Amino acid sequence: MSKKIGVSILGATGPVGQRFISLLADHPFFEIEAIFASQKSAGKRYEEAVNWIIDTPLPASVAGMVIRSLNEQVPTKIVFSALPSDVAGNIELQLRSAGKYVFTNSSSNRMRPDVPIIVPEVNPEHLRVIEGKDGFIVANPNCTTAGLVIPLKAIHDAFSIKKVLVVSMQALSGAGFPGVPSLSIFDNLLPHIKNEEDKVKRESKKILGKFEDGSFKNAEFIVDARCNRVAVRDGHTEVVFVESEGKFEIEEIKEVFRNFKGMPQKFNLPTAPEDPIVIAEDPLRPQPILDRNNGKGMAITVGNIRKDEIFGLTFTLVSHNTIRGAAGGSILNAELALKLGYMKDL
Ligand code: NAP
Repeated sequence: MSKKIGVSILGATGPVGQRFISLLADHPFFEIEAIFASQKSAGKRYEEAVNWIIDTPLPASVAGMVIRSLNEQVPTKIVFSALPSDVAGNIELQLRSAGKYVFTNSSSNRMRPDVPIIVPEVNPEHLRVIEGKDGFIVANPNCTTAGLVIPLKAIHDAFSIKKVLVVSMQALSGAGFPGVPSLSIFDNLLPHIKNEEDKVKRESKKILGKFEDGSFKNAEFIVDARCNRVAVRDGHTEVVFVESEGKFEIEEIKEVFRNFKGMPQKFNLPTAPEDPIVIAEDPLRPQPILDRNNGKGMAITVGNIRKDEIFGLTFTLVSHNTIRGAAGGSILNAELALKLGYMKDL
């Protein structure tokens, strides 16, 4: 690509916004042109306004950029949104009407019939809903669903899923900043995350469903979820139980996971991990601290793959919630949409 494409980041100071900054600072297709946050940060230099909490250095190219307010024009066609869901909804719809290509992490517009929830290895064909549009919104799923649907897609294609139960142990960065008070989570676990279980159930069925005759048809299998918050900084762990139509041996499941690839790997997209699913053979893996950065935070690490007496199959996965589950997932969506020609004027 001869000249990089300018992009804007909305919600640039939160944990997801910081990941966008970090992943886009040296991106081969895109360059950060404008950054936006709330009125409290607008007008300040980024390094002055941000409380940088992620494990990579604040890029020098962004440190001195002045944060804009959403009352100002968004200057670029491509917009990455990391806004809280209570403010994202209308703003993203207005940007779409103004002809922008919005790649969002917020849940506000995910279930709209004209908004696809994309995980590029799983359902790239759902992008057809934005075909020929002057402006569009492409969502990525909530962070728990993002990690779950990749191994589910591999299993579903080979053995046809009937039922899924997932029990998550979710990292603190998933709650934004400052997030959960330390006295609520230190030495503790919280057995409820508001709205999370419903999001996992409905988003996974939309993603693993079909796009037919111009509309989304949910996957027919049952999904249930129990979500917990744990004292981990980054990386969601999920214990998954699956009942399938087809019979399998554990070695066949591992083979299906090992061989799983999608369009991002075929096109060698910059943010794509070489292997979307990494198998951990040590029974003490996967662990968030050891496995969340596999594939630069874009791979799903799966271990403890065993037969289960009730469902048939169980395994544990670890997925990075602010990379694959948020900013990295959104950037991969933009790379794929560009490659497939959905942003026709760019
Ligand atoms: P966050 O910590 O709440 O950060 C929100 C960002 O939005 C900050 O930059 C904040 O700016 C800005 N903001 C807040 N109110 C605003 C307003 N009225 N106008 C303009 N900007 C405003 O959130 P986060 O954890 O980074 O998550 C961002 C979004 O991604 C959320 O919708 C979340 O649900 C979703 N998501 C998060 C994760 C995760 O793992 N964290 C994963 C998937 C999806 P100031 O600093 O100036 O307040």
